[in-house]
Amino acid sequence: MPTPRIEIDLTKISHNARALKDLFGAKGIDVVGVTKVVCGSPVIAQTLLDSGLTILADSRTANLDRMRDAGVEAQFLLLRTPTLSQAEAAVLCADISLNSEISVVRRLSRFAVAHHLRHKIILMVELGDLREGLMPADLAGIVEELRDLEGIELAGIGTNLACLGGISPDHENMGGLSAIAGDLERRFGLTFEFVSGGNSASLAWLMSATNVGRVNSVRLGEAIYLGRETLHREPIPGLFTDAFTLIGEVIESKTKPSLPYGQVGQDAFGTTPAFRDQGPMRRAILAIGLQDVLVSGLTPRIDVEVLGASSDHIVVNAREQGLEVGDEVAFDLSYGALLPAMTSPYVAKEYR
Ligand SMILES: *Cc1c(COP(=O)(O)O)cnc(C)c1O
Repeated sequence: MPTPRIEIDLTKISHNARALKDLFGAKGIDVVGVTKVVCGSPVIAQTLLDSGLTILADSRTANLDRMRDAGVEAQFLLLRTPTLSQAEAAVLCADISLNSEISVVRRLSRFAVAHHLRHKIILMVELGDLREGLMPADLAGIVEELRDLEGIELAGIGTNLACLGGISPDHENMGGLSAIAGDLERRFGLTFEFVSGGNSASLAWLMSATNVGRVNSVRLGEAIYLGRETLHREPIPGLFTDAFTLIGEVIESKTKPSLPYGQVGQDAFGTTPAFRDQGPMRRAILAIGLQDVLVSGLTPRIDVEVLGASSDHIVVNAREQGLEVGDEVAFDLSYGALLPAMTSPYVAKEYR
């Protein structure tokens, strides 16, 4: 089999998706499956749908197109606010989008009308994480303006936490979101289809909440794929954390000193490396590097230590593993490592 490759266990992904759907569903919250970390893989998208999810979300129009072109049938949600120049692509590839700028929504309206489409808008509300979102005080004015726009429907509000500012979803900010939803619904005589409460960081809040208020939707990526919540990266009980495995192949294995010798300058990436003298060691080189994956996000499944990496090589202390040329080494991936590995054309994808 080719290396480097990423082995993707669809049965484990399906198990995780079903378990999360049941967990959130028990409190009246629907799970939207986020596909951006798997680059909109149609095979994985179909697995999520077969596991009972009905809405798929991605931050890139290209990934939504990839799923549509492959015949995946779902409601599609565009996670990242469309750029002005993408507005037409957005209404064509997405049924719903998250928005925080009225100029963008106006443009979406224009193209929705031109294409005889109805595009749903979820307005994002800033609740402290300081990435996307309208300040709560500005919402009513925007809702007023939206009501006059054709081709679009205000389907709800949402928020995103724990992404830039590391702010945790809690009873205060989630309660705030519910209160804002209720106020807008009363004031404008609306019933929101979505009150979209967040991402994989919402798990602790969900487990401790006796009343989730008006929150009826979450957008989950990491929890489904890696079986972890994202505030402390704790495994979620009953979920698989090893649905993805990265495999690299040994291309050199030799006993060498552990300390580089000669004059020390910068390494390939402009930093000055530091190494510890551990005497001679068995060092193995794997044919995979920074062009394929975020090496700092890899955890070997056997007892070896990653010593360093460059564009195309990872060097490990092979310890007592007896690695030989041609042997394969398996790694767990963090979210940050999974993203480039799934995107890289150099990493083969092996679905099983
Ligand atoms: C990526 C993303 C998500 C999913 O985040 P996970 O941590 O993978 O669950 C949800 N909402 C938005 C807006 C995103 O960009």
